[in-house]
Amino acid sequence: MAQGIPKDLLMNTVLINELVEVAKDAALVQGVLMRVKESPNSSELVTYAPFTLFPTPVPKDVFLQAKAVQTHYNTLVDKISQDPDFLQEALASTIVVDDFTARLFKVHQQILQEGRSQSIVLGLNRSDYMLDQREDGSTSLKQIEINTISASFGGLASHTPDVHRHILKVAGRLEESQRILDNKPAVGLADGIAKAWELYGSDRAVVMFLVEAMQRNILDQRFIENELWKRNITTIRKRFEEVSKSGKLDDNKRLFVDGQEVAVVYFRNGYMPQNYTSEQTWEARLMMERSLAVKCPDISTHLAGTKKVQQVLAKPGVLERFFPDQPQAVEQLRATFAGLYTLDMGPEGDKTVEMALATPDRFVLKPQREGGGNNIYGEEICKVLGRVKDSSERMAYILMDKIQPRPIQNYLLRRNTPLKISNCLSELGFYGVYVRQGQDMVMNDCVGHLLRTKSSEHSDGGVNAGVAVLDNPLLF
Ligand code: ADP
Ligand code: MG
Repeated sequence: MAQGIPKDLLMNTVLINELVEVAKDAALVQGVLMRVKESPNSSELVTYAPFTLFPTPVPKDVFLQAKAVQTHYNTLVDKISQDPDFLQEALASTIVVDDFTARLFKVHQQILQEGRSQSIVLGLNRSDYMLDQREDGSTSLKQIEINTISASFGGLASHTPDVHRHILKVAGRLEESQRILDNKPAVGLADGIAKAWELYGSDRAVVMFLVEAMQRNILDQRFIENELWKRNITTIRKRFEEVSKSGKLDDNKRLFVDGQEVAVVYFRNGYMPQNYTSEQTWEARLMMERSLAVKCPDISTHLAGTKKVQQVLAKPGVLERFFPDQPQAVEQLRATFAGLYTLDMGPEGDKTVEMALATPDRFVLKPQREGGGNNIYGEEICKVLGRVKDSSERMAYILMDKIQPRPIQNYLLRRNTPLKISNCLSELGFYGVYVRQGQDMVMNDCVGHLLRTKSSEHSDGGVNAGVAVLDNPLLF
């Protein structure tokens, strides 16, 4: 299946229809579930999380390359988070024009001023890539972004391999079914949280998941919670509003929410402006950041994951600042960078504008936002840049080379969506976990992967945005 799913299989509508029924049931049996849109805060009604009928071929060398570079990405993010001068310089232009980043930066500065109260750091991130198609037909691994806050789907991705194995067996493809890799990010993510909890050092203290108002994807998080409960660690789920109402710091800056001491705050919310619905929400974030609880991520690590930082890292000489004695790490990281261009005021930014206006189809224009659906493509780039090119507003964006993966035909299974064959593009992510105590890295691992696939009609958007679906790599 190196070249995709064989045509005769894809076109065998009788078999495909049978497989689709088998596939949906397999997803339900394995717990690849999501609450339905109509009732995001109740598990009375759930459906299968959207997924591909077949796994997607991924070259083995590229897969292993991404896996191998993950611990360097962990180290890089962690080092950036400890380098206030770098963050200040990298984000200086952005915070002039982007209110949300500016607000996060203000929290960061306040914590720096007061001094960090906790020396234990927990990082759970996901570095996402697409495979760029070279002219000679080979592929090269290019990073799309790194998510340092609220990287999702580690729970569900732990249960999709058995779904695809089952589908392939029913389709008479035993050999391929045996090539679907095991994947257990939920265990690895929980290992990191458990380590941070243990280092915090209080048996009574809990792990708090800071969750959204709309919790359609709760089951993804439940897999991680369950892993923690298996280790006899108590988890609670709270929204910003609840932390705001019932949270407080004691004289030692220990965080108590509803009377329970919190050892670890795991943010599964707080990465979009609309997550902060009031001044109280921002105050709750600040309270958590100030506290002795281990934050995943802390505010500086959150900022280290911004798209502006990604663009600055791609400038010559910048990676060397973080890895002065590790040319190999620099080389491995840099090999995954796509072209990234500044839109700061000045001749370099002017050049970027000119280049983007001349050939918009070669680029993606990105504001400092997360969560899918914010990027700008094609003619839209000309419209937006046309409007902002002569003002400092343009500094809210970065420009990036558009990665062009080879489309593969597949069926995307989603509730209430008619079945049709689609030309698909995939994005491969790797989960990184690290725990640092003072200067000691006590854990630094790659704990699993995530393949998401979308129809090539959509240029943007993740699974939660209703565009991409869960998938598995089939290495060749
Ligand atoms: P977000 O924080 O919203 O997830 P991303 O940078 O991951 O932002 O972009 C969202 C989606 O847009 C990606 O999942 C991918 O499908 C598409 N995308 C982003 N950058 C590129 C790129 N350089 N080339 C091609 N597609 C891209
Ligand atoms: Mg993304």
